[in-house]
Amino acid sequence: MKKIVALLLAIVLLLCGCGQKGADASGTIFCMDTVMDLQIWGSDADEAYTQLAQLLRSLEQEWSANEEESAAAKLDQQDAELTQEQMALAQKALALRQRTEGAFEPRIYGLTSLWGFTTGQYRVPTPEQITEGMQSTRWDLGAVIKGYAGDRAVQLLQAMEVDRALLNLGGNVQSYGTKADGSAWVIGVRDPKDPNGTVGNLEVTGTCSVITSGGYQRYFEQDGVRYHHIIDPKTGYPSDSDLASVTVVCTDGMTGDVLSTALFVMGYEKAVAHWQQHDDFEAVFILKDGTVRVTEGITLTGGSCEVIGREN
Ligand code: AMP
Ligand code: MG
Repeated sequence: MKKIVALLLAIVLLLCGCGQKGADASGTIFCMDTVMDLQIWGSDADEAYTQLAQLLRSLEQEWSANEEESAAAKLDQQDAELTQEQMALAQKALALRQRTEGAFEPRIYGLTSLWGFTTGQYRVPTPEQITEGMQSTRWDLGAVIKGYAGDRAVQLLQAMEVDRALLNLGGNVQSYGTKADGSAWVIGVRDPKDPNGTVGNLEVTGTCSVITSGGYQRYFEQDGVRYHHIIDPKTGYPSDSDLASVTVVCTDGMTGDVLSTALFVMGYEKAVAHWQQHDDFEAVFILKDGTVRVTEGITLTGGSCEVIGREN
């Protein structure tokens, strides 16, 4: 009997989103095609949790690439009405496209839908279909929306004056505020070759985004070949660089999300050059041969890695 009560209690606690890991409100939701784990500390944590879950769900609807009524679809329609916030997001996406010299391409729906990554109906397109898909200007903001959601979450948590929060938005980790004892947030970096393993931990303080893109995150196999979800806009095919994953640490979530995708497409050498030319992010690169390289502004503990200097 005791066991049954304990089990029911555990289920109720999980469903009502409270009681885990010492946070004042915490729980797991399925949103944006992924599992999101939310932990919030503070006197208003329950209300903040409810509002945050609502915000994430409304962003999911607003920016769904497939829905004709979504803001993503409207961006491609002349005279469609958009809010200032939506236009600002689109403009920022275009600026980041320019910054990454097109490695991040927000108008990539023609290609991502062709490969089936927007619907789950996977297929290898013909070269003719690829050429056609490259002509499309329809938007797919799948590469930025979780990072953007992290930024919007921070605004909400700030407005609600919660103490601190740790949000895992499907592999995109957003921290907010400082831990009670002043210690760093510890965030594991996944080993691309081992779904349950990490290559080490990153320690970040305050409000920060830690965002990973990797070919292992979503893919399908056909005739023994693996096709992953990050497309090189210049070829129309899954990018085939020397990288297995890129983790970006950045104070701006949307920028971090764009960069993790774009640096993955660029490949190691170009990605390091991009870091050397900019000072708004740090990164962990895991190469396909398993080598782990970390930019000098962050520290990876609990694993072996090489450090990349600014003057390499
Ligand atoms: P992420 O997991 O953040 O790297 O984003 C991957 C998602 O972004 C894919 O599932 C596509 O919807 C979209 N995407 C794929 N390749 C690109 C690209 N080169 N630029 C922009 N978006 C992309
Ligand atoms: Mg991304």
